[in-house]
Amino acid sequence: MLYFIIALTTFASYFILVPELFKYYWPEQIESKYWFQILSLQVMHIVVYIIVNGSYGIIYYLNHPFFEQFKIEKKPWPWHSDKKEWIQLRNETFKNFAINLIIGTLLAMTFGIAGVKYRFDRESLPDLWEMIPQFLFCIIIEDVGFYWSHRLLHIPSLYKYHKQHHQYSVTISISAEYSTAIEYLLSNLLPFIIGPRLLGEKLHLVTLLIWIGIRVYKTLSAHSGYAFPWEIFQYIPFLAFSEFHSYHHSHNDGNFGSFFVFWDYLFGTSNNYYQQKLKDNYGILNIYNPLKSKVK
Ligand SMILES: [Zn+2]
Ligand SMILES: [Zn+2]
Repeated sequence: MLYFIIALTTFASYFILVPELFKYYWPEQIESKYWFQILSLQVMHIVVYIIVNGSYGIIYYLNHPFFEQFKIEKKPWPWHSDKKEWIQLRNETFKNFAINLIIGTLLAMTFGIAGVKYRFDRESLPDLWEMIPQFLFCIIIEDVGFYWSHRLLHIPSLYKYHKQHHQYSVTISISAEYSTAIEYLLSNLLPFIIGPRLLGEKLHLVTLLIWIGIRVYKTLSAHSGYAFPWEIFQYIPFLAFSEFHSYHHSHNDGNFGSFFVFWDYLFGTSNNYYQQKLKDNYGILNIYNPLKSKVK
């Protein structure tokens, strides 16, 4: 119960505090809307990336039994398996992130903002009632796009563009965006930006920035390697949380979705995962949320 309250409080505070911060600091006048959009999108991405990865980094470093009890995989963390290999992979991952930022900037300069008129003004800063349905819309679009593009990348002839991401069989938060340029564009950026583009001027730039935060945090959490009970994703029914994606990496099989388990369930791509959970003595309710229904 305590964990659930913490989960709910942190979740609610993101949606209350961050919009308030934007409201407070949003400029009266924006000189160059074009560059303001591009820069703010990238800054938001980098800030969330640093804060979330930094927090997980401290937890990995502490290696404390309290946190380690929530580790999903039995296999050791990458830095415990082969130190030299790990340092190489870590450096590659950060280098890859920098390259992906350039790809993200290029896409933002073209498809991301070209021909779309997001709202900018202080007067029409969005409230929660405007933002929530727009987030849901963006999440649904992203989820469909991610499921199918990810599934496509697992076709043998296309797997070469996705293999890099699977170098991490035990995932850690920084592995989330470790991908080839083609995968990053097809599976990460496009499903993310199509929703906002469709909303166009109905969407305020602030909503788009908060949407970046949601998307980046969701993927970093999914790759964290932990199933922390104080993370809200553990409690939302039908949500594909970290354990779901961790299975995808450790078994390289099914569980293609990013936000929800619907598509995988509907098309049978999560059957092996649920079968495995049943074998491990997890209750049938695990269709919705495996760890919560654990019966031992
Ligand atoms: Zn995959
Ligand atoms: Zn992954």
